[in-house]
Amino acid sequence: MFSWLKTKRRERALATHAIPDEDWQRALHELPFLDRYAPPLIARLRELATLFLVEKSITSGAEEGEHALEVTPHMRIVIAIQACVLLLGKQGSVTDAIEDYATFENVIVYPGDFPRSMDFEDEYGVVHQLDEPIAGESWERGPVLLSWPAVEAGYVESGMSLVIHEFAHKLDMLNGEIDGMPPLPAEKVEPFRKAITEAYEDFCIHVDANEDTPIDPYAAEAIDEFFAVTCEVFFEEPELLRLEYPDYFAVLGGYFAIDPILGKPF
Ligand SMILES: [Zn+2]
Repeated sequence: MFSWLKTKRRERALATHAIPDEDWQRALHELPFLDRYAPPLIARLRELATLFLVEKSITSGAEEGEHALEVTPHMRIVIAIQACVLLLGKQGSVTDAIEDYATFENVIVYPGDFPRSMDFEDEYGVVHQLDEPIAGESWERGPVLLSWPAVEAGYVESGMSLVIHEFAHKLDMLNGEIDGMPPLPAEKVEPFRKAITEAYEDFCIHVDANEDTPIDPYAAEAIDEFFAVTCEVFFEEPELLRLEYPDYFAVLGGYFAIDPILGKPF
């Protein structure tokens, strides 16, 4: 449901729940990839993050025991900012832009890797339980799960952001398929598909040849993982992605409507 009432509620939230200055500055300081963006875009990011914090619940994976974690206001802001940077270039008001995240309400944070929650059905229809611990997961129309140490690792390891990765999966899921293709206007679907497929196939050749790739080899797992990993690189190390895959970089820039190198609208 997208209604006049929802817009009004969001406008009120912006006026009454703004992220306090000190908290905002501290979070920005930990995310230096945002230094490229000019003040108007940073102000827009702050509004998006404000709405995100009002509308989403960001809580611990458990109340007690090994999966319990004290989720602080700072952690919530850092997560909200990185989730919202994916929406930063979107045209229109922030109250419309945040609608891309309307399909879920919960972000669950763990003090470390957590057991994978989904069963896996093989090609013969047999269901296997995967208990290998993972650092992040996005459920279709469900929560985003994050390991906090893996979120923090993204601060120091340039080009990586678990939060951007998991929320990129959310955007990919918006049109009902998990295939590395976010929703696009009809005329942009084929150019996007061509660019991502060519980039992905080239990347897989390098990974299969055991080469040392500048992009995380996990991206070769499947095309949806390639999309999520390259979204991290697009925002965190855009020059690298442009150098490796210029055509794909261009269609991603078109989708996000942002130039992450110059830090301005595309
Ligand atoms: Zn992934």
